[in-house]
Amino acid sequence: MKITDIKSIHVWDDGKNLFILKIETDEGLYGWGEAGLSTRGLAIEGAVSHFREFLIGADPMKIGALWQHMYRSQYFEGGRILTAAISAIDIALHDIVGKKLGVPVYQLLGGAHRNFVPCFVTSEVPLQSPDVVSDTKRLVSNGWKVIRFVPGHPETGGDPLLFEPRESLHVTSQWLREVRETVGHEIVLGIDYHHRLSVAEAASFCQKMPDGTLDFLEEPIRAETPEAYESLGRMTRIPFAIGEEFSSKWAFLPYIERGLTNFARLDICNVGGFTEAMKVAGWCEAHYIDMMPHNPLGPVSTAANIHFAAAVSNYAWLEDRVNEFTFSDKLFPVQYKLEGTRYRVPSEPGLGVEFDEEANQGESFRFSERPHLHKNDGSLTNW
Ligand SMILES: [Mg+2]
Repeated sequence: MKITDIKSIHVWDDGKNLFILKIETDEGLYGWGEAGLSTRGLAIEGAVSHFREFLIGADPMKIGALWQHMYRSQYFEGGRILTAAISAIDIALHDIVGKKLGVPVYQLLGGAHRNFVPCFVTSEVPLQSPDVVSDTKRLVSNGWKVIRFVPGHPETGGDPLLFEPRESLHVTSQWLREVRETVGHEIVLGIDYHHRLSVAEAASFCQKMPDGTLDFLEEPIRAETPEAYESLGRMTRIPFAIGEEFSSKWAFLPYIERGLTNFARLDICNVGGFTEAMKVAGWCEAHYIDMMPHNPLGPVSTAANIHFAAAVSNYAWLEDRVNEFTFSDKLFPVQYKLEGTRYRVPSEPGLGVEFDEEANQGESFRFSERPHLHKNDGSLTNW
């Protein structure tokens, strides 16, 4: 079997960019992939074009070897853009090989450990008013046992881009305490601070809540400096969930080996696809760290995550954005749908997801930017 074409496809669905990739072969089999690094699709397309030059004619069965060619071939290895492209290609290659052998992708990774994939849900109601308590009750009554929250902020005087970290952490910690008192201790509660705090601010945030309020704190600070997390870890006892931006096992290295994260927020569409994700998962297993993958993209990412979840022993929960996005059945006529609070483990060959190129005809990349937040003094702060 030979690769005959690799296509970058820009999709605009439900108000967001998706980067979908298709690999075609001379046997008529094809595979779907998806890349992370949302909103920078033109850069990923550029990287895919470079890889395409030497992947055309290659044997798609040699997934691991092709990964090495893509990652190491041009001396300047890795980086987020290249690895997002590698991720999409690696996922599509697994789809092809699964179809060729007539097995689901998780079978290529060692077979299924579980009968379904447990998920966590995110309450989109910010931690700043009684509304978050009623939303939490709604989620619990819908069966959710693991709930993640987004930070709150006092009234901004109509400025949607204003974010003052100190003001946020006061109101956010207050409503987290309320939520914990309301739901008791059987429900797992976490918060994603989206790396908006400094070490000192994050420490103050943690110290405003009694032990047991939070089960995980996701990315309170940026993750470029492991020593910063080491420092924060000395000032709190709340478990951390870190890693969605990491683009290789080497980025995970200090966080796993030095015990800086307690859940791995691996993103299969950023880290390097199944090939790299399985290596990170094995390494985490040796350190008793569970996987809690980042899954904010489209249906191909979700499909890849379901197979990864099936194949990994040390697994906590998959992120699901059921409240936030629904993806078009016209564009994705075959896609996984949440069943209650979990996904089924499939038995179909390959990934088990389909994209309709015809339905996307005429679409091209649309520019969009994440919010550029600022503080009261006008300076930029993290989104
Ligand atoms: Mg996050």
